[in-house]
Amino acid sequence: MLLQVLGTAAGGGLPQWNCACPGCAGARAHPHRRRRHASLAVRVADHRWYVVNAGPDLTDQIEAAPALHPGPGLRDTPVVGVVLTDAELDHTLGIARLREARTGVEVWATPPVRHALLNGLRLGDVLGPYTPLEWRELGPDPQPLGDAIELSALPISAKRPRYAHELPPPPGARDDLSWAVALLLHEPSTGARAVYAPALAAWPDALQKAVEDADCVLVDGTFWDDDEPVRTGISPRTATAMGHLPIDGPDGTAHRLTGIRGRCLYTHLNNTNPLTDPDAAEHTRLTALGLEVAAERMVIEL
Ligand SMILES: [Zn+2]
Repeated sequence: MLLQVLGTAAGGGLPQWNCACPGCAGARAHPHRRRRHASLAVRVADHRWYVVNAGPDLTDQIEAAPALHPGPGLRDTPVVGVVLTDAELDHTLGIARLREARTGVEVWATPPVRHALLNGLRLGDVLGPYTPLEWRELGPDPQPLGDAIELSALPISAKRPRYAHELPPPPGARDDLSWAVALLLHEPSTGARAVYAPALAAWPDALQKAVEDADCVLVDGTFWDDDEPVRTGISPRTATAMGHLPIDGPDGTAHRLTGIRGRCLYTHLNNTNPLTDPDAAEHTRLTALGLEVAAERMVIEL
């Protein structure tokens, strides 16, 4: 299995355009600290890739990843489509940047996420005149993604994006935990397994099982500890209340990941997270637990 990290930051990126916090200021002063919106490319066949979550930086991220460059034909692109873990703006605005697609854009999403994008963002109405969106339903049963990969989704939470708070549910549908999912990727030919979960509001038993079975997990590293958003002044809500389990602390994800057999990488770092500073002491603590922070543009082969 071949994975290409396209970005590792939470909403706003690092630096965020209107933020002078130490993390953003540090990234302005030291360009190697910059991080683009969290996204991952998954190779599903020779010269065919899906992008997991399409952030506003998507086309710049494609330019920074030679495997995703077009060719040899004038408009041949290896980017087949997009898989979505949720409907948040920082994971979906990049779909609009694919409007030049010649034959449409395949979008894998759970029913609530599709509903939010079509009826909240009105993405179908806006993009339809440029290129069709070809919807694929993402669910708990494994489905083939290209030739090489099987994809399934593990429901995590009913947390809706803010723009969809008041959106009436589609007729006959109920609200459910698939507003945000963890993605499970399996390559049957090699047995390789990966988990990608950039927004973890909860840690169900099924996720623990998937993480223990995986060769690599890339998980929500938005906040170091639960109080970080309040302490740094960006929000009156704790990390958990914002839909992100913190890394550190009694309910943190670090202790759940310590000792598992696969490689564990944190992604989706908020600009307030001390881990955005490569010299922060928190890195030493993670390293001691056998955990890592995902690097921009890193390639992971399983
Ligand atoms: Zn900042």
